[in-house]
Amino acid sequence: MIDLHTHSTASDGTDTPAELINKALSQGITTLALTDHDSIDGWSDAIKAHRSPLSLVLGAEVSTITTDGISVHMLGMLFDGQDLAMKKMLDETRDQRVPRMRKMVELLSADGIKVTMEDVMRAAPVGATVGRPHLADALVELGIIKSRDEAFGELLSNSSKYYVENIAPTPEDAIRTIRKAGGVAVIAHPFASRRGQILNAEIFTPLVEAGLNGIEVNHRDQDASEQQSLDSIARELDLVVTGSSDYHGTGKLNSLGENVTHPAQWERLEAMADKRRVITP
Ligand code: AMP
Ligand code: FE
Ligand code: FE
Ligand code: ZN
Repeated sequence: MIDLHTHSTASDGTDTPAELINKALSQGITTLALTDHDSIDGWSDAIKAHRSPLSLVLGAEVSTITTDGISVHMLGMLFDGQDLAMKKMLDETRDQRVPRMRKMVELLSADGIKVTMEDVMRAAPVGATVGRPHLADALVELGIIKSRDEAFGELLSNSSKYYVENIAPTPEDAIRTIRKAGGVAVIAHPFASRRGQILNAEIFTPLVEAGLNGIEVNHRDQDASEQQSLDSIARELDLVVTGSSDYHGTGKLNSLGENVTHPAQWERLEAMADKRRVITP
């Protein structure tokens, strides 16, 4: 089983990289990608915990924003972790998440939902990419809501009045940076209507020109007809089709391996990186 999209405590997942790897091993995953939001800080612990028979793929889920202001997540995998442009892109997006979170906290507080930046930072593991799930955890801790899921249903969705956008590169810029660093770029859950505003089919052409390698088709936030449309688009544009869990530990309902990538698709994707960077048993 090949699962190419998971999160650890380096971002908004609740398992440490080592716990994630142990779970993957015990659940029969054969190839696992670690793709924390805007961070590669979990890589070194993942490498240490990794063992036979698991193949480990190191990556990141890069936050991007289109010129129309739509949030797009770009999975970068198998890139050189030492690449300076890649590091700079991840660092800049991660750093702006702190003032962005401060703005969300101010909007909530001004409206009588009393939560502080300290509450949020206490909810986030040290060094983690700070995101709305940590704000949700702080609200749970304060007794204001019951769960992350409930928070996203009301207070923290993309259409909420408390939502503040990330300042991030365009999807095209992110793809070019990932490819220049030797990696492959797969657009994450592009038709996830369950998350809010979605992209239209025209967006894919410029992304392919920038070097896009694949589309995440099988993902729980995309219904059967959305997956079908994406599958046709992938065929038409000769892109790799992936499926993945987007596992976040107890932070989300998604379970490891609930969606997987076909071995032939993975083989094709891996061959598009500039070098063999999979950490094999
Ligand atoms: P942010 O990165 O701050 O914009 O927050 C977005 C993150 O929230 C995504 O990475 C999702 O993992 C997470 N998220 C979205 N919807 C939910 C949900 N219903 N339950 C838990 N986490 C969610
Ligand atoms: Fe997340
Ligand atoms: Fe995502
Ligand atoms: Zn994700």
